[in-house]
Amino acid sequence: MKLFQFISDDSNLQIGIDLDGKFYNFTRMSHNGFIASLQELIEKDIFNLEYLNSVIETVKKDGSLSNYEIQGNIKFDVPILNPQKILCYGVNYVAHAEEGDNPIPDEPILFAKTQNTLLPHKGVITFPKKIGRVDHEIELGVVIGKEGKNIHENDAMKYVAGYTIINDISARKMQIDDLEKSHPWLRSKSYDTFCPVGPYLIPKDSISDPHNIDLTLKINGEVKQQSNTSLMIFKIPKLINFASEIMTLKAGDIICTGTPSGISEIVDGDIVTCELSKIGLLSNSVKSE
Ligand code: MG
Repeated sequence: MKLFQFISDDSNLQIGIDLDGKFYNFTRMSHNGFIASLQELIEKDIFNLEYLNSVIETVKKDGSLSNYEIQGNIKFDVPILNPQKILCYGVNYVAHAEEGDNPIPDEPILFAKTQNTLLPHKGVITFPKKIGRVDHEIELGVVIGKEGKNIHENDAMKYVAGYTIINDISARKMQIDDLEKSHPWLRSKSYDTFCPVGPYLIPKDSISDPHNIDLTLKINGEVKQQSNTSLMIFKIPKLINFASEIMTLKAGDIICTGTPSGISEIVDGDIVTCELSKIGLLSNSVKSE
């Protein structure tokens, strides 16, 4: 089951659902017009298969499903508009550590991106040429389902709402220069548009094993990154536990779980596609001037 957010013809944010490749207006289907966003479904604790299926079954039973089909091109928005936090883990795949000449970490490496970075499917990754090399990083995104602090690894999956696709765009030259000066690398990760995300948010229970998802990133159709989430050094429960011992996690927070090897430069005019098995495809163009 694949949920997304889109902008309707009358410029309102709506929830959509992809059923067997057809798109439907879930906001209208649910007769729950007061629920404005996927984040609100999560906060109300109804972003789960039981609720979602009950809505779909109701309209299938009364024969009205086709009334909710979305016609024409869909203007996708990001699946989470206002995450309180976008938390990222660095160097979480051995092959990526090796390509960057980094040691294998003995504990998770946590950093953050700012909210201005969020960019929907089909949005344009934009940056000034003068900052030098900028890279793509395909990642599995985990969206938090409820508030928690000091979450034990054994309980961590109860705090997951669902999964999405992230491209952790990184101003690599700036990041390396800053690291050499022992400066933080926040700015290299936080240009506007540096966090393409979505388009889908997949409910947790739709994916039996999030540690067995294929990741494939292509630039202009050429494969650059190909791996599987089974190769993460620190798995999702550890990543949730680690962050939650520092900060209270909130419904809608996004955790970027790290990128595999194969990072490379993106330049003006490129089309970058990130595909995660069972989750979907995120595509963005690049503009640099
Ligand atoms: Mg990353």
